[in-house]
Amino acid sequence: MDNVPFAFAQKNHPLAPHTRYRIGGPAAWALFPPTTSAMKEAYHWLMETNTPFIVLGGGTNVLIDDQGYPGCVLFTTKLQTMQPLGNHRYTVGAGMMLSDVVRQLLLPNNYHGVGALTGIPGTVGGAVYMNAGTANGSICELTETVSLLRGGRFETVSVTPDAYGYRGQSFCKENEVIVDATLACVRSEHNEADTYHHYMQRRKTTQPEGWCCGSVFKNPPNDHAGRLIEAVGLKGTRHNGACISDKHANFIMNEDTASFDDVLYLITLAKDKVREQFGVELKEEVRIIPHRTLSAGVE
Ligand SMILES: Cc1cc2nc3c(=O)[nH]c(=O)nc-3n(C[C@H](O)[C@H](O)[C@H](O)COP(=O)(O)OP(=O)(O)OC[C@H]3O[C@@H](n4cnc5c(N)ncnc54)[C@H](O)[C@@H]3O)c2cc1C
Repeated sequence: MDNVPFAFAQKNHPLAPHTRYRIGGPAAWALFPPTTSAMKEAYHWLMETNTPFIVLGGGTNVLIDDQGYPGCVLFTTKLQTMQPLGNHRYTVGAGMMLSDVVRQLLLPNNYHGVGALTGIPGTVGGAVYMNAGTANGSICELTETVSLLRGGRFETVSVTPDAYGYRGQSFCKENEVIVDATLACVRSEHNEADTYHHYMQRRKTTQPEGWCCGSVFKNPPNDHAGRLIEAVGLKGTRHNGACISDKHANFIMNEDTASFDDVLYLITLAKDKVREQFGVELKEEVRIIPHRTLSAGVE
């Protein structure tokens, strides 16, 4: 892949600064389309040339190989629009930060969703793809439709409850890009500012600060991955620059110099110990992007 014909393409672009883990080598090419039409052009080119690519938003839920990614990384971060449609509906660009949606849309209007989304880093596109949320709800519950680039064209898909679940959804597949989401908001009868401060404070008390991806594993049914990892005695375990947080065992931190392999080592260790002791198979919530991945999408 010698040439990518866009002014917004950058060759051999370091990925670590674009991730919350601060881990990952360079992308052969990184694409930062500044508008929806530029995104569409880039996507068509990737499809037509059959170029391997992955999509990234805020990089808050990915662990990228130190050797980098040998294809194109399509960033959505410049798609930052918010358009009111009337009747409490808003179309929000995939690259808008979720925290800005909370602060600029939900809080000033006292809309529902603050309890579900407060404190989650990353973009709207990444949040919808992951169906990000908390025990209080998730982004897809507020989402009416999403615009997708799919098979070379734009499609608008309805987001219905059967199409999403705990940290996942079925309407956006590999090779597809969420370009924007239309949120249907509802006024709350509570003071959502209080809810916001409560959950921001709670995160400070219960979660470690630093380079990480939030929860590494999904919670198994009726249990908590953090509880299981703590119960097998791994809280505080270090491997080179990586560490299972002693504040929250489902957080694996990059304490400065951790490599992809260091974090992966602790992921494997936690899975093995929890399987041995409890017979529970922990499943990663973090999206792992090994160097060999050369298909579209991250899975
Ligand atoms: C400190 C911390 C706390 C966190 N707390 C929570 C929490 O409480 N709840 C929660 O659910 N998550 C949490 N997370 C995880 C993470 O913030 C969310 O999953 C977030 O929604 C990911 O958004 P992103 O833009 O960073 O996605 P990325 O990390 O860039 O990508 C994640 C996945 O989404 C795909 N993707 C991203 N954008 C698009 C798009 N536009 N179209 C198609 N696919 C796309 C990527 O290919 C990748 O597979 C936390 C993370 C951190 C670091």
